[in-house]
Order: sequence, then C-alpha cells, then structure tokens
Amino acid sequence: MAGVGNAEQRLTEVVRLVANNMIAEVCSVYFMRGGEILELFATEGLKATAVHKTRLRVGEGLVGHIAATALPLNLSNAQKHPKFVYREETGEEIYHSLMGVPILRSSKVVGVLVIQNITRRHYMQEEKESLQTVAMVLAELVASGDLFDPLEQQEATLERAATARFEGVVLAEGMAEGVAVFHEPKIEVVKHLTDNIPLEKNRLATALKSLQDQIEDMMSAEDVGHQGEHKEILDVYMLFAKDKGWNAKIEAIIDTGLTAEAAVEKVQLNNRARMQKMTDPYLRERLSDMDDLANRLNRHLMGRVGSAASANLPDKFILVAQNMGPADLLDYDREKLGGVILQDGSPTAHVSIVARALGIPMVGQMGEALLDVAEGEQVIVNGVDGIVYFSPPQEILQSYQENIDSRDVLLAEYDALRDLPAKTLDGVEVELLVNAGLSIDMEGLARTGASGVGLFRTEFQFMVSASLPRVGPQSDFYRDILDAADGKPVVFRTLDIGGDKPVSFLKRDDEANPALGWRAIRIAFDRPALLRYQVRALLNAAAGRELSIMFPMITDVSEFKMARDILNKEINRHKKRKSPLPENIRVGTMLEVPALIWQLDNLLPLLDFISIGSNDLMQFFFACDRENPKLAGRYDPISPPALMMLKSIVDKCNEYDVPITLCGEIGGKPVTALALLAIGFRRLSIAPAAVGPVKMMIRSLDLAGVEAYMAELLSRSDHSLRGLLTAFAKDHGVKI
Ligand code: PEP
Ligand code: MG
Repeated sequence: MAGVGNAEQRLTEVVRLVANNMIAEVCSVYFMRGGEILELFATEGLKATAVHKTRLRVGEGLVGHIAATALPLNLSNAQKHPKFVYREETGEEIYHSLMGVPILRSSKVVGVLVIQNITRRHYMQEEKESLQTVAMVLAELVASGDLFDPLEQQEATLERAATARFEGVVLAEGMAEGVAVFHEPKIEVVKHLTDNIPLEKNRLATALKSLQDQIEDMMSAEDVGHQGEHKEILDVYMLFAKDKGWNAKIEAIIDTGLTAEAAVEKVQLNNRARMQKMTDPYLRERLSDMDDLANRLNRHLMGRVGSAASANLPDKFILVAQNMGPADLLDYDREKLGGVILQDGSPTAHVSIVARALGIPMVGQMGEALLDVAEGEQVIVNGVDGIVYFSPPQEILQSYQENIDSRDVLLAEYDALRDLPAKTLDGVEVELLVNAGLSIDMEGLARTGASGVGLFRTEFQFMVSASLPRVGPQSDFYRDILDAADGKPVVFRTLDIGGDKPVSFLKRDDEANPALGWRAIRIAFDRPALLRYQVRALLNAAAGRELSIMFPMITDVSEFKMARDILNKEINRHKKRKSPLPENIRVGTMLEVPALIWQLDNLLPLLDFISIGSNDLMQFFFACDRENPKLAGRYDPISPPALMMLKSIVDKCNEYDVPITLCGEIGGKPVTALALLAIGFRRLSIAPAAVGPVKMMIRSLDLAGVEAYMAELLSRSDHSLRGLLTAFAKDHGVKI
C-alpha cells in the first residue's frame, strides 16, 4: 500500500500480489459506491475491461451476498450456490472455487475482496485469515479518499436517516428524546502495518496489564454498591483478560507485520465468525463480552480509556450501545441521561432490569439499525411501543415532546404524594409495598415512600452469575438489602429459577411446558443444597433483625411443610453452632398454583402470611401463557371468575387472620388495583414506578361505593368488567 503510483495503480498491484501469493487465478476487489452498489475496482484474472463496469447490488450474486451478510464465503463449487449469477463481461464461468471476505470499516461493509480458482479447491482457514488481513488494509484506502469521495458511501445512510424509524423490543418503559451519544466511541484502527514487531508486542503487554488493572478496579469499586450482583461477570472478564491463548493469538498476528491494535481487531473478527455459529444463548452472550473486552483492550492501546460517561455530555442525551453492563449504565449522570438504545439486549439482561429500576426508557434488539445513527443526531426513544426515530421530522418531534412533557408533569405529581398515606376518601388505609430484585431497586423504596418490600426476587443475583453464588456473597447481598431497607420490612422469596428464568449454572432439559415444569421450589426439593445454602445466607444476613421468607410455586400443603423443614434444619444448625439468629422469623408462601386454594383450611394455620403471585396464578387459572404476546390481554383478571377466585382467597385469609398481599403485576395498574380493593385486598406489592399512580387512585376513591358496585358486578357473565369499572371510576372522580 505504501508503494508507488496512484491509489488505483496500487490497488491493481495489491490484487496481483494476492493472486500470486495465494495461487489463485483471480483476485478482485469491489467497493461500495453511493446507492449501495458494489463496483469492481481492480482485478487480476478477470477481463480488465470489466473494471468500473461490473456493478452489483447488495445481495446480488455471490459478491453481493457477502456484502449483505457481512460474512466470509468459502465455496469449492461456487456455481452451485443459489446466489451465483453469471456476468458475461467478466468471463468468469470457468472458475469453480471462490472465497470472499467483506471489507469492513466501523462494522460497515465498504467492499468485498474475492479470490477464485479454476479447479475445485478447498481454501484453508489461514488463507481466509490472510484475505481478511488484506481487507482490513483496503478499508483504510477507502477512508483515505484517494479512490473516491468516501462521503459518497455515507450519503445513502444519511438519506435513510432523514426518515429513519426502527422497531426494537421494549426493555424498560418510558419515553425520551435527546441527542445520540455513543457509549463507547468506536475505536478506528488507523495504523495497520508495522515494521517494529518487538515494539508492538511491548505495547500489547502494557495494554493488557492496564486492562487487567482496570477490571480489578471495577471489581473493588466501593462506590457503586452493587458489585455483589455482577462480581461473577467481572470474574469472567478477568479470566478472558488473563487468558494466555488470547494473548498468544494476538502476538502471532503481530508477527505477520500488523500493529497490536490491528491484531486485536483481527483476532476478534475470527472469534466472532466462530462464535456466531453457536446456538447456545449463554455462549453467544459471551461473544458480546469478548467484543467488549477486545474494544477495551484497543482503547488501552490507543490511550483512550473510559466510556462516554467521563466526557462532557449534552444536557439531554440518548445513549447508544451495542450492549452494556449494569455498572456502565450507573456511571452516567441520571439528570442528563434520557434513554438508551441497544443493538442487542434482552428483557432479562441485568442492564434491562437496572434500567427498569431506574425508570430509564430502554429499547433493545435494534440490530443493524443502530449502525445508521450518527453521534449527535436527534433521537426519540418510545419505550412504550418499542419504536426509535433518528432525526425525526419536526411534527413527530413536537408530538413526542408534548407527550414527554405531560408525563413529566404527572411524575412530579406522584413525587408530591410520597409522604402522604395511601388512604381512601372514606378512611381505609391501604399498604403499598414494592417489588425488588436488585440493590438499586432499594432506591425505589425510599423514592416512593412505600412501606417495605413485599417481594424480593432473589433469583436475579443467580441469573447474572456464571456460577452458583456461594453462601458468603449471598449473605453479603441480603445484608446490604436489609441495610438499605433501613428498618422497613423485606419479604425474601427463595429461588424462583427455571421456567422463564434460566440460570447458566444449571443445565436443564428442553421442556415442552417450562412454566409447568421443573422450576422454583420443585428444583429446590431435587437439589436441596441450593435452598439450604440460601436459607443459611438469609439467616446470617438477618441476624438480630426480622426475617420474612416465602417459597415460590408451592402446590400443596406437604410442599410447604417440606420447605419449612429445610428452614428448620438450618435454624437448628445455627443454634448448634451458636450463630446469631434473626430476632423474629416470619414464614409464608406464594400462592400462584390454583390447587393451593382448596387447601387453605389446612395451610393457613401453618404460616404467618401469604402472597398472591397473580402473574403465575392467572396464567394457570386461564390456561394462558404469560409470555406469549399473541395471548396478551385475551383474558382479563378484572372479570367475574378471576375476581371471585381472588375474593375467596382474601375471605379465607381474613377468616384465619392471616395477612395477605398481592404481588403480581396486576396490582400495579390503577384500575385493576381498584378492583382488588373492592374485593377486599388491603396490601399490594407493586413495581416502584406504579406506587405513584396507584396511590393517586386510592386517595381519590370512596371505597364503600365501589364495594357495593362490585358485589353487583361479580354476578354478571361479562368477559371483562374493565369497561364498566373504568366508567364508574370516571363518573365518581376516581383517578385511574
Ligand atoms: C407472580 O407470579 O405473580 C410473581 C410475583 O412471581 P414472578 O413474576 O417472579 O413469577
Ligand atoms: Mg411467579
């Protein structure tokens, strides 16, 4: 590339050298021109007259296919491939084998490099890697602008951005608007070749060392206060960062004459190609860890450490990232951070859970669409419908702005209710508690003024761990939670894994009906150590304080007794060892399996409280998968059968004087909460964001009136009572 002649002459020399060295009859390079057209720029072996004449659309022919998929292609019989098209001007029908690689720059395809052979040839892995190395260097030629104006390639993108509207998956609800800020400004490798190999190896060693130091710092960070939850993730990072195999692979590529950063990029490219083929979601998730790590290493190599969080950021911004960890999100100034859009991301990923807890709208699984957003561009995140706009037209921006403003006004009204009681107009006190699962959820407890945590989902700590959390870290975590609750009660639910909550350390079979399968307490009975260790950790953490503990998915009385026995064994173990015990232990159960309703007479005398998990109870009651979007809203909990079932449980609990809470999602919607109060519930555990709206409803309600109306409604045969109840609320000034 540093040879003589103009860019075109050097390009022609490159393809000649590649063809000679790789013993290929043909080597050709295509570059992407404006309008997404691949144009032949240089060839050794095809007709010279085809240069600048052969043009292919993305997706057309094998070259177009490589550009469309951004993946290498290696074919011993290219003409058999369904994408093969014959272009007369090139005279290529006699070539059997073809290997091509995309020319990538900042993850965008800017061209394609191919070699071809007359005979049927199986190209080797090393040959593919060599071709990729050449492609990396060619990408720089495009960027230099010596061949054509590189802006031409961006034009197509900018044109699209003018009306860009993309759909993703809602990971955290809410709406926001602001300018795009890249979480990790993409590192462009600008220098690829070196003639000082020892120097590059030294640079690599220094960068690896500072990367390891950085991870160590993250592991010991005191200020974030949530390290217990993702310590295991950082352990995995450290394992990779210290991996001798990784280091050796990078060094081997430096030996071929590439700079350290180009070698890191190339090793990661190979990793990607290998790991993308894997079907195991856990391993694929590790791919983004590896991407992240390679990126971090390159930032150390180029002296650009740190994410955008440390930069001077605009007043209102939307964070754009391929993926990010929960700690990364917490690094940003929450006053300025409006929302987040992710190329990957999943609803159960830790970062999504954190975003929900913080009320930061987040849309994920945007895929390639994210490659189109430019830093500083205007972005709207609609975290209600999962829609994202880049550079929205003025009228869309304005209507979103109005929407966001009115939401802000409402949020301020909810905040003003914080210290006021959740009391109806006719003087009935309702207890509002929050659902939590992470230490940052505990901020929600203070922020909303809720009276405690009615459901602490302990499984989140397990879901983000690569290995089973030990008793020590579990105890530390629960102790932190109790400290954060500052004397308010916290109900810990023991592990509810399986079903929709997979954990990486427990191999499970493919189940036809995972929600009805091996999950929650059922796993605990088959793997009793799991529950014993957890109970032990809870007893340790609550020493000298009150401990409330409940079990998920209890199906009959004998199961409750078995779970209690495990708890008793651990209490006895504590006593024998003279370990300090909680001052008071309250034991309850979730009620989420309908069978348990007909055993309440036997069950209620055995326990201290009960909590209805309406998410599962409703899915079993209506035989309706809670995860299936096609069924969402098909059956209504505000309907006579569901409310009658719930009412029978409340009545029984009142008869036995056992406190009852409802902790599923339905309690968080004001109109459903209204129905629940009308059938006798006085304690709801809901998402922190729901406390304001539900409290506002309660404070505007005359309960006696709606109780009388509900008695009438329950005898009807309507599919849903939602409409009637909503109309009643509107007529009576109830704020729902
Ligand atoms: C429920 O099922 O309603 C519940 C609260 O538990 P989870 O949503 O965690 O299954
Ligand atoms: Mg449940």
